[in-house]
Amino acid sequence: MAKYKIEIDKEACISCGSCAAVCPDVFEMRTEDNKAYAKKSELEELGCVQEAVDVCPVQVIAVITK
Ligand code: SF4
Repeated sequence: MAKYKIEIDKEACISCGSCAAVCPDVFEMRTEDNKAYAKKSELEELGCVQEAVDVCPVQVIAVITK
């Protein structure tokens, strides 16, 4: 069972692309709305996710521990 859940507040995302740049395994920018999405919303390991959380200029990436 996954240990972590990733949530992104899309309304508040300013489309800077930083999360996808530092953590492309987990985050991607989608062309339809130019917002960040989690490729995998549930993860066993955080890996680079914390880096993405730290780099987000508007702090809209939340990691929920399950
Ligand atoms: S770093 Fe934050 S503001 Fe920038 S694209 Fe990712 S979620 Fe959006």
